Amino acid sequence: MIHILAYYLFTPIADPLAEMYKHKNFIKDLDIKCRVYISGEGINGQMSASPEDGEKYIQWLKSDPRFEKVVFKFHSYPEHVFPRQTVKCKEQIVAMDEPVDISLTGEHVAPSLWKEMLETRDENTVVLDVRNDYEWKVGHFEGAELPDLEMFREFPEFARKFKESRDPKETKVMMYCTGGIRCELYSALLKKEGFQIVFQLDGGVINYGLQEGQDLWRGKLFVFDDRMAVPISDEDAEIISTCIHCEEKSDVYYNCANMDCNELFLSCPACAEKLKGCCSDHCQTQPRVRPYESAERPKPFRRAHEYGNVGVSCCVKPSSGS
Ligand SMILES: [Zn+2]
Ligand SMILES: [Zn+2]
Repeated sequence: MIHILAYYLFTPIADPLAEMYKHKNFIKDLDIKCRVYISGEGINGQMSASPEDGEKYIQWLKSDPRFEKVVFKFHSYPEHVFPRQTVKCKEQIVAMDEPVDISLTGEHVAPSLWKEMLETRDENTVVLDVRNDYEWKVGHFEGAELPDLEMFREFPEFARKFKESRDPKETKVMMYCTGGIRCELYSALLKKEGFQIVFQLDGGVINYGLQEGQDLWRGKLFVFDDRMAVPISDEDAEIISTCIHCEEKSDVYYNCANMDCNELFLSCPACAEKLKGCCSDHCQTQPRVRPYESAERPKPFRRAHEYGNVGVSCCVKPSSGS
């Protein structure tokens, strides 16, 4: 049994590079795989670990006064969900072009109150999903809106347009994301643009699922690890998305087997088999196509050299965000 941990904290880190090395050094001999980002503004981590070594890490991190307030969200899974130990120093832990003051963030709402607010919302309430559209497709809150954006870096522009269509003084904004970190920034940005009533789901959909189950949620939750799409509670989740080829219901994502495309797309097993894991007939005819392996839930594509016999040496752009 492996524990999957998700956590973040905005806290000043004077020397993020030194912190990165400290982290690397502490976990290097532990049964931990992870993706941890550290910047001058804080830490954002996801980790899979044996229960013992996960606990060691938690104790170690929290023994540092800067990190004692970190909240960990837990899931269990039969195996590791990250390929290796990745600890990186970054300019920002969530990419956004415009600086915001995260002390002026939206009000945190616990999952139980969030549910009550969803049930009693009026026409002045907008439930805003601040994730990418490939995340939205496999699952979201009933009645939520998705900003029409290519990249979430463009959120500042959306905020200004949103202000033209909705009265920033009257509109009650309920914002949510996967684990809560994106809302810290985006809610602060909406407030900066003049929205006065902004709420954010504390701990994101992960926390909501753990505490409230899947009431008012439809579908699954997209996650940035090997699981890709998971039910948010112990109950079975409905499938709300469809195969791009035949429109059969499916919430299984594939990275296109053509490495020069690598597009993330939804496919049913039959179409995946027929197109050998490619997003189109065109991609199937391209020179750098990974061999197709049938799997109930394929893992996200990461590195070319894991597919040794294809004979490629360069890197392929990742198609997922933060
Ligand atoms: Zn299909
Ligand atoms: Zn393709």
